[in-house]
Amino acid sequence: MNDITLDFDIDAPLYSISVVAEMLDISVHSLRAYEAAGLIIPHKKNTKHRLYSHNDVIRLKCIRDSIVNKKFSIAAIKTLYSMIPCWAIKKCSEEERNSCEAYDGYMNPCWSYKHTDNICELQKCNTCEVYKNHTHCETIKQTIRTYTR
Ligand code: SF4
Repeated sequence: MNDITLDFDIDAPLYSISVVAEMLDISVHSLRAYEAAGLIIPHKKNTKHRLYSHNDVIRLKCIRDSIVNKKFSIAAIKTLYSMIPCWAIKKCSEEERNSCEAYDGYMNPCWSYKHTDNICELQKCNTCEVYKNHTHCETIKQTIRTYTR
């Protein structure tokens, strides 16, 4: 029997918004609302069309599960994301932490803030480990455990 290995980049932008809406059985309007709230950052290549990766689909499934089954509000999910200790992951200096809104903020994920004059200024958030490695809410707690040992 032949072994078939599917080798693809889970962060590659592949799916259009209508395909993702169909995959998850949700409306395009909901997907746009999650984007506007800063829960998800789809890829926008040369055109204005949004494209979602496999990892984005996993993130959206987690967001839907949190809203529909766990009764979290969008604001609660944003607060959860704001707890990701990005400053520790990115090894920000004391000076950078003190001038970064995301360090003190607790209502929005770090990627919702405009960053000027710090380590995040030139990084595209949807390619950043802080964003990419936290598709599931439970990974946030694992990260906090890792960085507070
Ligand atoms: S680059 Fe974006 S996602 Fe990464 S730590 Fe900075 S603000 Fe957060």
